[in-house]
Amino acid sequence: TPPPGPEGAPSAPRPVPGACFSRVRPAPLRQPRVVALSEPALALLGLGGEAEAALFFSGNALLPGSEPAAHCYCGHQFGQFAGQLGDGAAMYLGEVCTAAGERWELQLKGAGPTPFSRQADGRKVLRSSIREFLCSEAMFHLGIPTTRAGACVVSQSTVVRDVLYDGNPRPEKCAVVLRIAPTFLRFGSFEIFKPADELTGRAGPSVGRNDIRVQMLDYVISSFYPETQAAHAGDSVQRHAAFFREVTRRTAQLVAEWQCVGFCHGVLNTDNMSVMGLTIDYGPFGFLDRYDPDHVCNASDTAGRYAYSKQPEVCKWNLQKLAEALDPALPLELGEAILAEEFDAEFRRYYLQKMRKKLGLVRAELEEDGALVAKLLETMHLTGADFTNTFYLLSSFPAGPESPDLAEFLATLTAQCASLEELRLAFRPQMDPRQLSMMLMLAQSNPQLLALIGTRASLTRELERVEQQSRLEQLSQEELHSRNRSHWADWLRDYKARLEKDREGAEDAAAAAWQAEHVRVMHANNPKYVLRNYIAQNAIEAAENGDFSEVRRVLKLLETPYHREGEAAEPAEPEAAEGRLSYSSKPPLWAAELCVT
Ligand code: AMP
Ligand code: MG
Ligand code: MG
Repeated sequence: TPPPGPEGAPSAPRPVPGACFSRVRPAPLRQPRVVALSEPALALLGLGGEAEAALFFSGNALLPGSEPAAHCYCGHQFGQFAGQLGDGAAMYLGEVCTAAGERWELQLKGAGPTPFSRQADGRKVLRSSIREFLCSEAMFHLGIPTTRAGACVVSQSTVVRDVLYDGNPRPEKCAVVLRIAPTFLRFGSFEIFKPADELTGRAGPSVGRNDIRVQMLDYVISSFYPETQAAHAGDSVQRHAAFFREVTRRTAQLVAEWQCVGFCHGVLNTDNMSVMGLTIDYGPFGFLDRYDPDHVCNASDTAGRYAYSKQPEVCKWNLQKLAEALDPALPLELGEAILAEEFDAEFRRYYLQKMRKKLGLVRAELEEDGALVAKLLETMHLTGADFTNTFYLLSSFPAGPESPDLAEFLATLTAQCASLEELRLAFRPQMDPRQLSMMLMLAQSNPQLLALIGTRASLTRELERVEQQSRLEQLSQEELHSRNRSHWADWLRDYKARLEKDREGAEDAAAAAWQAEHVRVMHANNPKYVLRNYIAQNAIEAAENGDFSEVRRVLKLLETPYHREGEAAEPAEPEAAEGRLSYSSKPPLWAAELCVT
């Protein structure tokens, strides 16, 4: 471990061969103030109250016993091995062991530079911090494995991330998020033990540090996979194999959860994949509004590598990289065999099981269910349906044995499909026509180059947009609406038939019990509220103007994302330019302009 720099001062950026951690010190911020605290997250640590939160959770003061460090890890970023990365903006503060026997690792994100900051400053701005803070907690309350966030603190210190249209820099306030997890170790934590000659820019022995790899592996297993440790205490290869099997299963389950709630991570690099199967590193994430399997939430992902529908295969690819990084502690052939055996099967099983719950199929598991789900998604795609609202609305589908008039339900369901105006906005061309024709020429003359720089995908998407626009131009809102109605009527017929099979043969009393169970399961699996970009954006804009009340209101709202029994009016709603929005509304038109990277 290299020595720390002088107090508060950054150590120089450097490669640190043979080290997993470097000691660091948070660099103080001017006038830290609490934006919001998550009471349930702080309660994990036995902490509460706001009195000293700004001081400790900004990094301006250290908790007693804290020995801050930055972790040195590697990663594959966007499909390429990126060499040494490490905690460039995050600092490990230490661990809190609770009376209940839990152990929580604490991290500050944005507390200043570390030896792994490279050219960057180790700071985070308010908007990205609010997004990470809110979404960490939102995911937890949705029941999806995630790192937690205990606090978000803002300061009067500033950094520049953007230059305004007039060429002037836009200073933004620095913020810090307190993150909490059993561990923040990631797939990339193991990639650092590759032979030095494979680690660009790292001098050192030309053999991988298998001794440190094994040490870290056994630390992870004994600390976070105690059952695996107990079952295979005497046989290291078996132990490592069982560990990799469990990480594979948890990762498959995690990405299935993401798909079922419409969550797009945005930066699924191996350094953002938790060894515990937690959602980790909230950056340009996004929840699907209008269902589009090709949705790319990260505006800088021009090739669409991390599009919504690609997440399962990308997670599998990342597990392959983990398997390579564990070799020879876990021989590669063994790791690859486990991956082939487990991932697809576990993803499919877990995904279908979750989707059955989302559809309120509580009894039989039928072969045909996969096709019913696929056709639902296709219908959502064809009709521009809102992902969250469609599933939520299905909970009130009249599923009873009597055959009620579906007209009213159909009207509600189609009302949340994208309007012609929304579609025209969503599919507006993004290149100017001259740029497009130049790209087309380039595509003809040099397709390889185009693929290499990742513009082939954006060109394809642009052409699709142009085509879609011309189709939309020939369509009236009435035609769109009646088309949507017939698509939905078609799927709802299948759904109703499937629900009848689920209830089949039940006596009158049993039918009532089925109905109650059906509704309960749907309400528990289809959230009413998710952190849509526009909701985060409203909270961010208020906070940038010094008003933290919206951040706190959204945090509270997302603590109970599912249907509440006897729910009264929604909490106070933000005023929007286009009239009143509720937090469960699909995005307002202005949200089409939002861009996160
Ligand atoms: P991410 O895409 O958030 O996973 O970040 C990739 C790498 O960049 C990680 O090693 C981060 O620690 C580093 N990084 C991100 N933001 C900053 C920052 N503001 N200062 C220094 N390093 C950063
Ligand atoms: Mg990261
Ligand atoms: Mg990040």
